[in-house]
Amino acid sequence: MSLSAYIHIPFCKKKCSYCAFYSASASGQTIEEYVKALENQIKHSDYKGCKLASVFFGGGTPSILLPQQYTRILNAIDTVFDISSSEITTEINPDSVSNLLDIGLADRFTRFSMGVQSFDDEELSLLGRVHTSSQAVDAFKSLRNAGADNINIDLMLALPSRDHLNKLKSTLEKAISLSPEHISAYILTPEEGTLFFDNFAPVSDELSDDAYLLTCEFLEKAGYEHYEISNFAKKGFRCRHNMSYWTQEKYLAFGPSSCGFDGKNRYRINCSVNEYIKNNGIVPPIIEETLTDEDLRSEKIMLSLRLSDGIDRKILDEICKNDEKKRFVDYLLDSSLAVKNESGGISLTDRGFLLSNRIISELM
Ligand code: SF4
Repeated sequence: MSLSAYIHIPFCKKKCSYCAFYSASASGQTIEEYVKALENQIKHSDYKGCKLASVFFGGGTPSILLPQQYTRILNAIDTVFDISSSEITTEINPDSVSNLLDIGLADRFTRFSMGVQSFDDEELSLLGRVHTSSQAVDAFKSLRNAGADNINIDLMLALPSRDHLNKLKSTLEKAISLSPEHISAYILTPEEGTLFFDNFAPVSDELSDDAYLLTCEFLEKAGYEHYEISNFAKKGFRCRHNMSYWTQEKYLAFGPSSCGFDGKNRYRINCSVNEYIKNNGIVPPIIEETLTDEDLRSEKIMLSLRLSDGIDRKILDEICKNDEKKRFVDYLLDSSLAVKNESGGISLTDRGFLLSNRIISELM
């Protein structure tokens, strides 16, 4: 089983209107104290010397860090773990790319994940993003010019904007013209407690389905492998870090409210930024869930069906021992919601992905 690490940076310049993640604006001093606590937590890891398959800086907005702070966290990780062959990703916002490039930090990451969301300025303003479309294009080009050869672009679908499908087409065309190695495209689901939820009615299921299928069609035609419900990659560029979540590998959690998995237990560093700083990063995690073998099996079915790899022959045979489930599998194949895959199991099609929640609950 491989091991990965997630590093949480819970600060943002400004809250986006749709965002329900825990993130806060913070003074330079708080961010500095936070980085010190993070370095200390990393130094005290029980997994010293272990090889990491991937390291992921997420947030929040990791690129809010000063270049020296990024460097210190990376040095701490490099000292404690073996990251000689790790995929090392940082999320990055278009307005703060120059932070990274200033001191040549691009070389220390193997992958960048840029939160673009849309290339339409009206949609960006609806989402409360702090950047414009042209800033996103410039940021992408600067990363490329600095040598970044593995860039993801995050996009958002099913926005309640005027003429969304046309705007989405232009966004996809622009994204494809930049030729990123990876594109994540998530359907926006407004969550309670956000400005967005209070101000906009959700879009119709029909529009949401059309936006999703349009995205699949555009990106697949452009040569991207649709390897997970919301993720598309050029050959050889699947996100190794996210694959570790989807294939039940172990991952370590650094920073408050981050989650880890040790192969059996899901745990959380359950504290606020202030508590984390006060305890210099040493906060015992709480176990949120201990998975039995049966839980692991059910979760594997659920996660596998979200991937284009699908479930393999062995799992399918087990499922089909139940007559009702076998009939359901036949129905999925007959109605092209699923296809047989190379292993002799089944994988969902794009239309199947749209109904994945219902399909997965029938097969569990
Ligand atoms: S930048 Fe990301 S984490 Fe921060 S508020 Fe916006 S969506 Fe949320």
